[in-house]
Amino acid sequence: MADKETKDAKKAEHLEVMRHSASHIMAEAVSSLFPDVKFGIGPATADGFYYDFDLPRTLTPDDLSTIEASMQKIIASNLPFAREEVEKKTARKIFSAQPYKLELIDELPDKTLTIYRQGSFVDLCRGPHIASTGEVKAVKLLSIAGAYWKGDERRPMLQRIYGTAFETKEELDKYLYRLAEAAKRDHRKLGKALDLFSLHEEAGSGLVYWHPKGALIRHNIEDFWKKEHFKRGYDMVYTPHVAKLDLWKTSGHLEFYRDAMYASMEMEGQDYQVKPMNCPGHILMYKSQLRSYRQLPLRWAELGTVYRWERSGVLHGLTRVRGFTQDDAHIFCRPDQLEDEVVGVVEFALFMLKTFGFNEYDVKLSTRPDKYAGTLEVWEQATEMLKRALARLKIPYEIDPGEGVFYGPKIDIALKDSLGRTWQGPTTQVDFNLPERFDVNYIGEDGLEHRVVMVHRTVLGSMERFFGCLIEHYSGAFPVWLAPVQAVIIPIADQHLDYARQVATELKKEEIRVELNERSERMNLKIREAQLQKIPYMLIVGDEEIASSTVSVRMRNGKTLKAQPLAQFKDRIKKEAETKTEIV
Ligand SMILES: [Zn+2]
Ligand SMILES: [Zn+2]
Repeated sequence: MADKETKDAKKAEHLEVMRHSASHIMAEAVSSLFPDVKFGIGPATADGFYYDFDLPRTLTPDDLSTIEASMQKIIASNLPFAREEVEKKTARKIFSAQPYKLELIDELPDKTLTIYRQGSFVDLCRGPHIASTGEVKAVKLLSIAGAYWKGDERRPMLQRIYGTAFETKEELDKYLYRLAEAAKRDHRKLGKALDLFSLHEEAGSGLVYWHPKGALIRHNIEDFWKKEHFKRGYDMVYTPHVAKLDLWKTSGHLEFYRDAMYASMEMEGQDYQVKPMNCPGHILMYKSQLRSYRQLPLRWAELGTVYRWERSGVLHGLTRVRGFTQDDAHIFCRPDQLEDEVVGVVEFALFMLKTFGFNEYDVKLSTRPDKYAGTLEVWEQATEMLKRALARLKIPYEIDPGEGVFYGPKIDIALKDSLGRTWQGPTTQVDFNLPERFDVNYIGEDGLEHRVVMVHRTVLGSMERFFGCLIEHYSGAFPVWLAPVQAVIIPIADQHLDYARQVATELKKEEIRVELNERSERMNLKIREAQLQKIPYMLIVGDEEIASSTVSVRMRNGKTLKAQPLAQFKDRIKKEAETKTEIV
């Protein structure tokens, strides 16, 4: 086990060094195409590498092929990477025609700097590198983007070339396949093609409009979500979207969370705040009466829409937005109930993920951040308790130091989609702080007041982000229980319309979401359209089906089932919807 980990770590390290070295090779190739190029920097990234260039003209995709071909020659020549230590003065001379490098040289505190040469190319670099260019086994240039020097929009805009490199051609091909697949599944693209949602610049960035089909999927998710909560002893609540600013002073949000909040608004001399979180509202309701230890735990769930400020630059489709609905809940409990509650929440979250076909996930325990409320002792206790809960669940996890929320530590579950990419998902947060700030208590067995403990949690994350993830995970082909249209009926010709209508009526009676394509187009065109819309079933009806009182069933993956009585098809689709499992 340990040996394997060391081996994996070594492999990852070598990959990073190789990719960074590939960026030097790319820089050499660019300089042979553009002798006057001014070099920025060229680091390795999580998936590859890039280099920034100041060039006399804008790069085209054709340039990428030329540069790549030139890189292949450099790789084939197997030139050694030679390290040299030079005085700062000498370095200034070597890079006298390179203003960005000169800037870097002047910023470095050291007297001696290192430079690396391969062939006629020289770069200022700390290293390390691979021994020679031939060690780059499989390389591919991917894209061109603009990037300000040092990320500063007041500095020149450079051209950044992204590329990647792998140890083998097979690994590179696999990566490229996944990239192409990810592009095909992009939820922004599929959201438009399948008419699921939209965003409108004129209404404000990062605010999501759910179209009927997207809204229906959301309804199905929420319906399921509510049922599962009721089963687990939760109650549903609703709270307003706006509250007096004072409430957010008491909660500490103004002090610790202001950067993520919209500005407040003044009405009749009173400041109000659109809510960034649902917690204070739930606390007010808890405090509306005296609570006895016998009533606890109280588990209150709300599909609560919140608004948080995010910079325009970081907004992304459904996954980084400014308005979103958390599948939120707060558990008010006694300290002795806390561990069981956390175990219950994490189990619940994993059950939810499994239902949507996420069987792999990464679990992280986030500890105290720099800006925190409460005492060190309480933080320590809460963190230990979360560790015990995870140990009871036998779930492996990693510690994410300093990534807790200001009021307490948390357990985050990142889910892995069908392409193996990770998405931020459910979270469970322990909070000893808000009960303190709001003076939230219960009457104990001893007849005295005791401080309550709160758990904040979501089992999906937010509806928006989870939906974005689901679209890409399923590639838009939603399982029957979620699909906005579960079956489309396709009559072969106009004379089959009456029978097609009968079939539609029969299915609708059973609450099967069915559409009838009445347009007089060719059958193949209708099938093609249904496939593009990723509708699970197509029911084709013509003379034969009418004569035998059957339907011919075609699945969206192209597979066809034997003509069958409608009752048989009904059973199949109902079973799929009920079990939330596809019959293959
Ligand atoms: Zn380097
Ligand atoms: Zn909360």
